[in-house]
Amino acid sequence: MIKIGVLGAGGRMGQAIIAEVQAAADCWLAGGVERPGHPMCGNVIGDGLIVCANAAPVAHKADVLIDFTTPQALEEHLRAAMDGKSAILVGTTGLGAQHHALIDAAAAHIPVLQAANTSLGVTLLAALVEQASRALDTGWDIEIAELHHRHKVDAPSGTALFLGEAAARGRGAPLETLRLPPHEDTSGPRRAGGIGFATLRGGSAAGDHRVLIAGEGERIELAHLAESRDIFAKGAVKAARWLAGKPAGRYRMAEIFGL
Ligand code: NAD
Repeated sequence: MIKIGVLGAGGRMGQAIIAEVQAAADCWLAGGVERPGHPMCGNVIGDGLIVCANAAPVAHKADVLIDFTTPQALEEHLRAAMDGKSAILVGTTGLGAQHHALIDAAAAHIPVLQAANTSLGVTLLAALVEQASRALDTGWDIEIAELHHRHKVDAPSGTALFLGEAAARGRGAPLETLRLPPHEDTSGPRRAGGIGFATLRGGSAAGDHRVLIAGEGERIELAHLAESRDIFAKGAVKAARWLAGKPAGRYRMAEIFGL
């Protein structure tokens, strides 16, 4: 049995992950955690488990923590995982350089998987984008457009940036040097070789991503459309199974899906 603790238990993703863990014959829900003051704290989930306002006790019981919360909670959650000697999957997006430094430091002690998108489809899409970007010269413009539900707080989405990083790898340069500012904030023609982003927000969309690669006289479009959050929850639980018992280190979804 893989013992899984869910951080952000009352959230959209937390709820989908709890359902996935409870439906899996080889997984056991080791506990749920919510931010202090959240109405779910103290509620009973699973086999008489109480939702805690602190990750530490859950980390001590879990083989793997699954964290879909906010960047502000990351440091505390990594500390809890290290103290409890559990692995952790970080699905939270909107992470900055300081968060990646914290993840790298934790990965020296415990297994950590950080993924802006835990679906098979997006993991494969990133590999295709990297391949296309490597094959085509800078005469082809790369633009990444995303649509998410009205509640999403970070923009562009972590997945759009992840796809941008894949495109930048194909071009042999870091995304920071290739990322274009929003076109409406600039004047003049588009910079050759740059990677642009566009964001749409509205309704209940679970997440659509389109990568447009536009050349002279022809365009290529690679896209992934999420029909529900279940694909992220399924990928997260698959990754948790894979992470349990692994040596300390930082891992990627591509390894879980064998891509
Ligand atoms: P949400 O707002 O519905 O849920 C987040 C939950 O985290 C809330 O219930 C909130 O109260 C809780 N929370 C905040 N601080 C906490 C703390 N310190 N301890 C415990 N819980 C805390 O958001 P969501 O739609 O579930 O998304 C959560 C995150 O996951 C976002 O960053 C989102 O972009 C990301 N996400 C990632 C993927 C992926 O595949 N990696 C997929 C979907 C969403």
